[in-house]
Amino acid sequence: MDKRPGPQKKKAIAKKACPECGAPMKPGRTTLHFERDGFYADVENVIAMLCGRCGTRSIPGAAALKISETVDRLFKAGKEIDSTGISFHKMAS
Ligand SMILES: [Zn+2]
Repeated sequence: MDKRPGPQKKKAIAKKACPECGAPMKPGRTTLHFERDGFYADVENVIAMLCGRCGTRSIPGAAALKISETVDRLFKAGKEIDSTGISFHKMAS
């Protein structure tokens, strides 16, 4: 099979300009911090678009929704048990 220089399929991540300063944003990873009812949750290594100039972060809509739903459930579960918090981590491989 020979490789033909056909039209490159690009994923739907369009190049975005920072809504704050207009600099081009780059894909990267970030940590999101949530606080509610005395609990806090950090979601680490979230794929996001990051502005190298002012630090503004943009989480793609579908991922943002999934994260907020997950954190919601975590906060609810945390309230139901008599504890001071829950940590949830993926093991480093
Ligand atoms: Zn910016």
